[in-house]
Amino acid sequence: MAFSFRAVLVDYDDPPPNWMEGELASHDIGWIAGQHRTPKAALNVAHTADVVMVQSVRPLLNQAVIQGLERCRGIVRLGTGYDSVDLAAATKRGIPVCNVPAYCTDDVADHALALLMDLAKHVTWHHFLIRSGDWIGTQLPTRYRIRGRTLGLIGFGRIGRALAERVSGFGVTLMAYDPYVGAETIARYGVKKVPLDELLMRADFISLHPPLTDETYHMLGTNEFNLMKEGVYIVNTSRGPVIDEAALVEALRAGKVAGVGLDVFEDEPLPLDSPLREFDTVILTPHIAFSSAQSRIDLYRDTCKLAVDIIQGTWPETVVNPEVEGKTAYPFQRR
Ligand code: NAD
Repeated sequence: MAFSFRAVLVDYDDPPPNWMEGELASHDIGWIAGQHRTPKAALNVAHTADVVMVQSVRPLLNQAVIQGLERCRGIVRLGTGYDSVDLAAATKRGIPVCNVPAYCTDDVADHALALLMDLAKHVTWHHFLIRSGDWIGTQLPTRYRIRGRTLGLIGFGRIGRALAERVSGFGVTLMAYDPYVGAETIARYGVKKVPLDELLMRADFISLHPPLTDETYHMLGTNEFNLMKEGVYIVNTSRGPVIDEAALVEALRAGKVAGVGLDVFEDEPLPLDSPLREFDTVILTPHIAFSSAQSRIDLYRDTCKLAVDIIQGTWPETVVNPEVEGKTAYPFQRR
């Protein structure tokens, strides 16, 4: 069947649901999905697409790909972070880039909480102890009772706030560093806005929730670990490169950092020889914080809606390069 428009998903984690093809077809959009995991392969399949979709967290839609798109009206990143798309190049070409920001907020906040609780209570450590035939794990007593401790949130957007709401009954002091959110907004969640240094010096637990940008790349490195309390616990469900992993390993070896819960890594999949695999107090999950049966449904539902908006020339709700409005290669109108 011939369609007037074409949408291409250049790569995906799990095969997309079958209903998506019919949903887009009902709007005269032909749709294909494939696993094109290099920029060259992505451009090859997407160069004549009207809507380009990408799931990868690696920089797949780089400058060369974006320059090669012949009739692209919009790009959709199937996820929250959009560091896999060269935003400046898209803006220059007049292409709006959308993300799907809210489909997994609860899931990531739940996951960050699970990692925090695991670090505090050594659940995984004791589980493996028992599986290896041992029983009493007094070698690793819990360091803290959670009540009375301080949790520092770096990044106070959707996920940071959802985590703050979850821990509000734990009797912990909550503080946040986010240069782009006002103290009043942060205070509404029972959280104190603080400078980064103060957070690093006072927190017993730190959870990271900023996007990956030039500003946040390696925002936790040797200097920042040196400022932290001895025995701090850190959780990262945002993006791996926000932490300088080599510096983190040093801080773990020195005992400065007592443990980390990581869902994201500088290099994914985590290399087999990564020293992060060596520590009992490092809990690793394979970038799955977003994942739940419901988040999957919500992700593809929101993606379809964005694709249809782009094709119909309706300004999508989640454009992450809003400066492109009025300068797009194809016309858009506000809803
Ligand atoms: P969001 O945009 O709602 O919030 C991000 C917050 O970070 C904003 O409030 C922003 O002001 C703040 N921020 C920006 N620069 C900062 C800086 N230099 N220092 C401190 N804070 C800064 O995004 P969100 O929905 O809360 O998601 C946060 C990040 O989580 C995403 O960008 C994505 O990379 C990551 N994420 C990971 C998964 C996963 O499965 N592990 C899933 C979804 C999102």
